[in-house]
Amino acid sequence: MIAQSKSSAVAGTFGRFGGRYVAETLMPAVEELAAAWRDACNDPGFTATIDTILAQWVGRPSPLSPALRLAAALGTTARLWLKREDLNHTGSHKINNCVGQVLLAKRMGKRRIIAETGAGQHGVATATVCAYFGLPCVVYMGAVDIERQQLNVLRMRLLGAEVVAVQSGSATLKDAINEALRDWVAHPLDTHYVIGSVMGPDPYPTMVRELQRVIGRETKAQLHAQVGRLPDAVVACVGGGSNAMGIFADFIPEPEVALFGVEAAGEGLDGRHAATMSRGSEGVYHGMRSLVLQDEHGQLLEAHSISAGLDYPGVGPEHAHLFESGRARYLAVDDQAALRGVELLARTEGIIPALETAHAIAALPEVLRLLATSRDPAAVLDIVVNISGRGDKDMHTIAARLGAAQGDR
Ligand SMILES: *Cc1c(COP(=O)(O)O)cnc(C)c1O
Repeated sequence: MIAQSKSSAVAGTFGRFGGRYVAETLMPAVEELAAAWRDACNDPGFTATIDTILAQWVGRPSPLSPALRLAAALGTTARLWLKREDLNHTGSHKINNCVGQVLLAKRMGKRRIIAETGAGQHGVATATVCAYFGLPCVVYMGAVDIERQQLNVLRMRLLGAEVVAVQSGSATLKDAINEALRDWVAHPLDTHYVIGSVMGPDPYPTMVRELQRVIGRETKAQLHAQVGRLPDAVVACVGGGSNAMGIFADFIPEPEVALFGVEAAGEGLDGRHAATMSRGSEGVYHGMRSLVLQDEHGQLLEAHSISAGLDYPGVGPEHAHLFESGRARYLAVDDQAALRGVELLARTEGIIPALETAHAIAALPEVLRLLATSRDPAAVLDIVVNISGRGDKDMHTIAARLGAAQGDR
């Protein structure tokens, strides 16, 4: 049975999106989490501990790198800046969220951590943080994904996590999320469920955004120190939407900063894709109301993207709201263009980005075109791209696809 919390009309909604759509049996656990999160936010000791761990163990602040050769290759006079989340421990922004949530779980007296994972990146980040804190960790993962992502399964097991194969449905990410929610219903007292993006029931979308806000806060200060101004635009890829919300958050109240989210057009918007904004419709799933790819019976559709991290049929509710209100714009980039984005950043800046991140790189010509219509042509623009992660994990896919296209050149 699905119950909608009375309080959610106030907290945890973004326009008509968001909310708390969970089984009645789970509502007390969700409410306990929301209260604990509010309490922790008001405790300077909690936020100071997060900051210390981010500095001493994750490697923050991450640099903001100027990308002169990338700008030259794109034929633009704009100054391009790369926010280097790829340099974090474990190679992406995901660790920022995991550190905060596991620390919150400890504060709540939870003795067991569970997580869902698609390609394994969030599973690895959660298992890494659990090892650091000495907490047991169970990761739900679709059986199909386990087959596809052997290396990440090995990493999680090496870090001491238990990886549970989910056989139901299509045996992929959306089924792993359902299984993790079922585990939480069964063990609400001793277990915390670490959701990996700005999705799920309130308080997750807000909590994960706040734990990722550090990306945009650092960016703002770093760009100010470099050029003494706000960026004209911020660009980030969108799967569930956490790296984008993290870099957007501090800029949302600055109306002169244009925000661009880039989703995965997969094989094309008329084929298999993960373009929830472009092609989704409103629905209630995974504990929230948001946009989603669904069939006429409201069943979630299988998403497709060359990048596992964007391969999700939904999106966080705050993005649905930013889209509808027009505060952020959303572009879609297909698999082929993303591969060219990997190659472009590799050859111009010496950075091999994750396939997810490459969608943001590949969207830059369109971003520049859109900005040109709205900005003074004489002005020098500053554009920040969030480099959400590094491409080591994708080398197999990249080599297979680029190798096939290039022969033995
Ligand atoms: C998981 C992942 C993403 C997508 O997740 P968001 O919640 O949309 O940020 C993007 N980039 C990388 C490198 C990832 O690992």
